Amino acid sequence: MGGQVSIPEGVHVVVVGGGFGGIAAAQQLKSHGVPFTLIDMREAFHHNVAGLRASVQPGFAQRTFIPFAKTFGSSFVQGRVENVDPERQVVILQGGREIKYSHLILCTGTDGPFPGKCHSESSLEASVQKYEDLLGQIQEADSILVVGGGSTGVEMAAEIKTEYPDKKVVLIHSRIGLADPELLSSVRQQAKEVLLEKGVELLLGQKVNELSELQLNKTQKNMQVSTDKGETLTTDLIISCTGLRINSAAYSSALMSSMTDSGALKVNQHLQVHGFSNIFAVGDCSDTKEPQTAYAAGLHAAVAVTNILNSLRGAELTEYRPGNVSMLLAMGHNDGVGQFVGYRLPRFLVALGKSRDLLLWKSWKEMQQTQP
Ligand SMILES: Cc1cc2nc3c(=O)[nH]c(=O)nc-3n(C[C@H](O)[C@H](O)[C@H](O)COP(=O)(O)OP(=O)(O)OC[C@H]3O[C@@H](n4cnc5c(N)ncnc54)[C@H](O)[C@@H]3O)c2cc1C
Repeated sequence: MGGQVSIPEGVHVVVVGGGFGGIAAAQQLKSHGVPFTLIDMREAFHHNVAGLRASVQPGFAQRTFIPFAKTFGSSFVQGRVENVDPERQVVILQGGREIKYSHLILCTGTDGPFPGKCHSESSLEASVQKYEDLLGQIQEADSILVVGGGSTGVEMAAEIKTEYPDKKVVLIHSRIGLADPELLSSVRQQAKEVLLEKGVELLLGQKVNELSELQLNKTQKNMQVSTDKGETLTTDLIISCTGLRINSAAYSSALMSSMTDSGALKVNQHLQVHGFSNIFAVGDCSDTKEPQTAYAAGLHAAVAVTNILNSLRGAELTEYRPGNVSMLLAMGHNDGVGQFVGYRLPRFLVALGKSRDLLLWKSWKEMQQTQP
């Protein structure tokens, strides 16, 4: 791993959020011998990239949670950060505990509907159980409505139909184009083709009325759902895959003037938060102009840690420049579409590289633990 740097006394990096960005930052700090504390409200890292598979394949959910303490020992603190005080250089946890920092890396990510995201303070076992419960609901339903045809909705519909080909799966999307708009149009078209080949029914250019009023993730035979185009659908189960929002609660009062309207932190080319040389933002909560991906969060983490080390050495800071979009969509364990640095990949390659195991091996390796 990385070389040791002579660390001046008083240097202590606090990393808030142990998602893809946070664990990458913490591992790099560890490997360079930099004192750090990683704080997350949960007891385990969640490889949410595989959260959808965990909802359809019995026994899979266990593999998507990796305990923090086993990897980071006493450098991990479980707790919810409620505030940051940049003047006193402390983060303040729920309950009042304060942790001092010389440098702060904020990587609080995004939250969104279950099962794509599972941000809760519940135990590892309870989180796994939440997935097993949804799996039971999916198994019970004859027809399932997936709401939202961004990348998560596309993957969800494909996962269900692959695992349960006899169930009726409908994907409703407010726009005509499926998946992320930043993807090549040929990749988005391919995603549509794969869904149709698998037998997913598509309802494009329509919205479900009053989604917030509907019972989600619970099987109830023959529910009636209306759309803004006046159609009525009958379904047994509704799964929402729409509406990610940035987790800004940890910093929103202290860093309000450095935030965008969406709650993301404005950063310069060194990923320093506007107005602060010792606060960095990494991953989904940073306002880098690119799609929010785990892949990008890992790249950000490397830049933030390098810049902390460079600032300690008095060296020039390195820059982060978003590259061409790389994004792979797993469409069940046996298919997938995507692009790497702007080039469309053949479906079999995505299936081989991502869809089979959803890159779980990478997170277990990064956390230096053995997959169960
Ligand atoms: C279904 C799905 C599939 C995806 N597939 C891919 C993929 O294949 N490839 C890819 O590159 N990207 C994928 N993404 C996107 C990827 O998941 C995100 O970009 C990535 O998780 C961002 O990492 P992050 O570290 O910024 O934040 P997150 O992973 O969101 O983690 C944030 C962490 O911060 C913690 N936290 C938040 N607030 C606080 C607080 N106040 N106090 C303490 N802790 C806090 C949370 O508990 C959480 O652990 C997918 C997303 C979804 C929803």
